[in-house]
Amino acid sequence: MSSHTIAFIGLGNMGAPMAQNLFKAGHTVRAFDLSAAACKAAALEGLTVSTSASDAVNGADIVISMLPASRHVELLYLGDTGLLRKLPKGTLVIDSSTIAPASARKVAEAASGAGLAFLDAPVSGGTAGAAAGTLTFMIGGDAADLERATPVLRNMGANLFHAGGHGAGQATKLCNNMLLAVLMIGTSEALSLGQSLGLDTKVLSEVMRRSSGGNWALEKYNPMPGVMDTAPASRGYSGGFGTDLMLKDLGLAVEAALASGSSVPLGGLARDLYAAHSKAGHGGLDFSSVIGMLSPGTLRK
Ligand code: NAD
Repeated sequence: MSSHTIAFIGLGNMGAPMAQNLFKAGHTVRAFDLSAAACKAAALEGLTVSTSASDAVNGADIVISMLPASRHVELLYLGDTGLLRKLPKGTLVIDSSTIAPASARKVAEAASGAGLAFLDAPVSGGTAGAAAGTLTFMIGGDAADLERATPVLRNMGANLFHAGGHGAGQATKLCNNMLLAVLMIGTSEALSLGQSLGLDTKVLSEVMRRSSGGNWALEKYNPMPGVMDTAPASRGYSGGFGTDLMLKDLGLAVEAALASGSSVPLGGLARDLYAAHSKAGHGGLDFSSVIGMLSPGTLRK
């Protein structure tokens, strides 16, 4: 395998383990995050930490970003001070953040105007998938650029899907996350009902997991504290995938539905429930904490 010099921008819950996997695979990783704590943690793991994003891209032939939302990605790459102006022609830029498809297309257009290759490559699989290197990548962009990116993406993920042209990776991700939100709320509802009916939620979870109600939340991410040791619910809903990030994704899905004339009644309701949950002060908790709207006791365990 050929090794690369990779600038990795954004070392949060997802970015940190992804950058770590690239480092373990033998690449030189030049990492940067606006948070000093995130940089410190990365340095302790052995990564080379840069003082700024422009410093991180020095000598890099690949740039990967893992940032919260569209505005962060546009700010990083576009405009007079954006990275696209600084990168040598031919650099491969991969954005794995979940952002608006239109925003991804905007960055892709600017990148191609500057002679750079760009892929939108959002992921699914959660922080456990990021740590295990088993993420699913949903990729938008040119096939030749994807071919070039494939060995590096394989260092972080197990499944790579070419969804179509620029923005198609993000569009795919929005559909997936809208479904995930609906499944998480539905799973929470069923577990709360079972609890009120006096059932053992561990037994109920196992029955539903193996029955027609089975889904990813029951398989890997049970929202009820104490049912699954590895899930955020069993560590006070810390880490994982933040409620405010899910709220952002649902907003993008509803916007995309409005723009395309699609009907997403459950997606819209899920957005409203996550907005209320965030407004109640839980935006920083993992998204499975939405069960607290139905069983308030779960947030105190
Ligand atoms: P996070 O909030 O934990 O991390 C984001 C990091 O980006 C933070 O450390 C922040 O300081 C940093 N940052 C923001 N602006 C920056 C800038 N200009 N330069 C450098 N660093 C900057 O978020 P996360 O959970 O790692 O998620 C990142 C993206 O991946 C989001 O778009 C999210 O929707 C998506 N995602 C998350 C999960 C998950 O399970 N957490 C799963 C799939 C996709």
